[in-house]
Amino acid sequence: MKTPQLFDLSGKTALITGSSGGLGFAMARGLAEAGATLVLNGRDQDKLKAAVRTLADEGHKVSAEAFDVTDEAAVTAAFARFDTAGAAIDILVNNAGIQFRKPLVDLAVADWRRVIETNLTSAFLIGREAAKRMIARGGGKIINIGSLTSEVARATVAPYTAAKGGIKLLTRSMAAEWAAHNIQANAIGPGYILTEMNKALIENQSFDAWVKGRTPTGRWGTPDDLIGAAVFLASPASAYVNGHILYVDGGMLAVL
Ligand code: NDP
Repeated sequence: MKTPQLFDLSGKTALITGSSGGLGFAMARGLAEAGATLVLNGRDQDKLKAAVRTLADEGHKVSAEAFDVTDEAAVTAAFARFDTAGAAIDILVNNAGIQFRKPLVDLAVADWRRVIETNLTSAFLIGREAAKRMIARGGGKIINIGSLTSEVARATVAPYTAAKGGIKLLTRSMAAEWAAHNIQANAIGPGYILTEMNKALIENQSFDAWVKGRTPTGRWGTPDDLIGAAVFLASPASAYVNGHILYVDGGMLAVL
């Protein structure tokens, strides 16, 4: 296969959870520019419609499925709709996530569960439904979104860190179970990226200075910094890459 074909996603359909904004939207656009047909996801219908409109105006093939990634019945219903419509998901990006900061001693169990379910259980639920169909069709690509906190802990984000650490080993488990079915399951671990999730941190001058000072590249990441990793892990170029987490962090993990 020639190099351009290695990165060609023509004829492939990609479901990207949490893609109405932030990293999910940027990765979706990147996959579409490599030729993929997109299925966007989120909970907020208006945000999703706006995202679909933007990408459709750019000439991409795009639709949306609104569902809560923590809701097992909603996930299975969405996959039943894909089956009915004859839409096979070749590439799954488990990206939807939430974070909030609270000291561990003040954390309610409901907060703990919400973060674990959104950031970790969802990847199992959606990965399971996607993989059943990928196995039947002879292969596919799964990309789970981890974080620097898949590797290192930070204070006040314990459930997020536990979930993202879980993503790393869930990804390896998926690779171990599904590699023989020609499914490559890998993860991306973003560093500090300028999105809505980090709005309060970006506006905090001392935190902003900390990020810039501790990142060897000297800047925050942008959502577009994730595109190369997403296209690589979604494409034939990564056919022999399985169970890895690829950190896209401006070098921060190297010096933390
Ligand atoms: P944003 O807050 O900008 O976007 C989150 C997206 O997830 C939105 O589209 C939101 O849509 C969707 N979402 C949230 N909860 C659910 C749910 N229960 N069901 C369906 N969709 C949901 O976040 P980012 O783009 O910054 O983060 C994306 C991923 O990257 C997350 O997994 C995050 O943990 C990870 N990450 C981000 C980093 C960063 O610095 N930004 C660093 C490391 C990892 P809606 O509101 O409609 O539900």
